[in-house]
Formats: sequence, structure tokens, C-alpha cells
Amino acid sequence: MQIPFINLQAQYQAYQAQINQVIHTVLESGQYIMGPQIEELEKNLARFVGSEYAITCSNGSDAQLLALMAINVKPGDEVITTPFTFVSTASMIALLGAIPVFVDITADTFHINPDKISEKITAKTKAIIPVSIFGQVADMDEINAIALLGQQKYGQKIYVIEDAAQSFGAEYKGKKSGHLSDMAYTSFFPSKPLGCYGDGGALFTDDAALADKLKKLRLHGQSQRYQHQFIGINGRLDTLQAAILNVKLNHFPKECVARAALGERYTRLLNASKNIVCQGLKSDRTSVYAQYSVLSPQRAQILEGLAAKGIPTAIHYPKPLHLQACFADLN
Ligand SMILES: *Cc1c(COP(=O)(O)O)cnc(C)c1O
Repeated sequence: MQIPFINLQAQYQAYQAQINQVIHTVLESGQYIMGPQIEELEKNLARFVGSEYAITCSNGSDAQLLALMAINVKPGDEVITTPFTFVSTASMIALLGAIPVFVDITADTFHINPDKISEKITAKTKAIIPVSIFGQVADMDEINAIALLGQQKYGQKIYVIEDAAQSFGAEYKGKKSGHLSDMAYTSFFPSKPLGCYGDGGALFTDDAALADKLKKLRLHGQSQRYQHQFIGINGRLDTLQAAILNVKLNHFPKECVARAALGERYTRLLNASKNIVCQGLKSDRTSVYAQYSVLSPQRAQILEGLAAKGIPTAIHYPKPLHLQACFADLN
């Protein structure tokens, strides 16, 4: 028997009646773009995360692009991030002509190492983007404090933007991922902890001016119909995806509890085996285990053994970003 890496069909079947119903409601309404389900979802997401504002958008990559546009990241600016992440975390920075500045990760949790950030802050640093990798929140308090020190030194705001694409639902010192810094974004790609049935994403902030600008930027910078205050993008979430997410968000808290229990069980059992090191989970936070990831010097043998038993695996990530061809010019 072959076990699927993530069984999206089984989850759909569990919520099928509710999901089919909301899909039909949208189909019959004709409001396929910016229907009322969008605002409803934004209210639900903000309530879940605890933020003042949630702004939905087309996907996690566009969410990051919108965040960078909202704080006026321009060519030559520097944005500090981790090389151990999905490519978009750094490529969205480069797409705006800004420079991704990579800082190494910690060996135990695979997060950007806060102790190595300060030395990379310059007068050109616009933002720091920690990634809450594999479902566990990064060291946000330390990073916020470092950003503040850099800000005092150079006399300009350094934003901390959490990449919560893998950590939606996780908690840090009792607060939710997405509500731990100036801004955060997440992805609703189907296999993320909270996934829709296509592409989707969202941004979170408590800052009214940023929220207002983000809402305009995702509609081509439009302030009123055909009045364009900013240069923006077509970055909207589909009404259908919003309707699906409204249903799935209701079930999500109990899924987070189940994910945590399964993760703890893996850790307990895997810690007993030599040659496997589990991702460390700090005691002040939870993980939603977007991936359950381990280190091993015997990787090839383990992958082969699991494959023989029909258990799928993946390598996250086979090549860090500072070694990718598209970033070769960063030296
Ligand atoms: C998935 C992911 C993204 C991008 O989200 P998309 O919705 O696929 O564009 C960004 N950062 C991380 C860490 C991710 O895992």
C-alpha cells in the first residue's frame, strides 16, 4: 500500500457536504471576484490570529510581494532573511530589485539565527523576514528587539515580517503566528496547514495605514474605481477559495491539536533511534508540523527503507537559496 504524502481527498470527504454547499452558493451568486465571502474570511482570519486586520490575496508569494511594496522596498534596499526556506521568500525581495541578505540558521530548530542578524544590519536594511519553518514560529522576540536596535542606530524603521506560510495556527508564548511583529503573511496552498483548493494567501497587521495600503495594492493600487493611488498588482483571492476557507477554518483548531499530538508522538518514538535528530521544539511555542522534518547522516538508506514500506518522504530543502543559480550574483 502506498500512503499519500498529504491526503487532501480524505479531508475534503470529511467536510464535503459543507464545502459543496458553499461552492454552490458562490456559483449561484455570480460574485466570483470580491464576493461577500472575502470580507467574512478576513474577519474570521483576524479573529483567529488576534490581529486588527487580515487582508486576503492571491497566494503566499504575492502576499510577501505586497508586504514589501507596502513598506516601499525599492532597488538597492536590503532585506535580511534565511536561505533555508522556499525560494519565494528571497525571490520576492529580488523581484523588487532589493537585495536578499542571507543569515545562517540554528542547528536545532532550523530558524534564522538571531545572534547573527545584527552584524548584517546596515543603513540600507528595510526589513527582516524570519521564516517559521516547518510549522514552528521563529525567535520573534529576539528579532523584534534586534530590529529596534538597528532602527535606533540608523534612524529609520526596520520592519519585521513573519513568513508564516508553514506556521499558520502555531503559537508562540500564547500568541498566534501572524500576530508577533509588524506584519506577517501566510499561504493557503492546498498542502499548507490551512489549505484551500487552489492558490490563496493572506497578510496580517495591526497597523491601519499598512492594512489600507495593502488592500489597495492588491487591486492595482486603486483607491476608488479607476482611481489609482499606487502601482499595484492583481492580487485578489477568489471568492470560491474564500468560501472554502471559511468552512475549513472552523475545523482548523481541532486539526492543529491533532497535528501537535501526532508530532509529539513522532518525536517521542524517533528520539529513541540513533542516527535521527528531530527538529527541536522550544518549550514556549507549538508547531503545526507543516512538515515533520528530521536530520540523519543515513538519509539515503532511510528514504529507501521507507519507500519499500510505501511511506513517502521528501527532502526539504535539497539546496539552500544561497546556492541556487538565480542568486549566484549575490556571491
Ligand atoms: C509555500 C511557501 C511560500 C509561498 O506561498 P505560495 O502560496 O506557494 O506562493 C512562502 N514561504 C514559505 C516558507 C512557504 O513554504
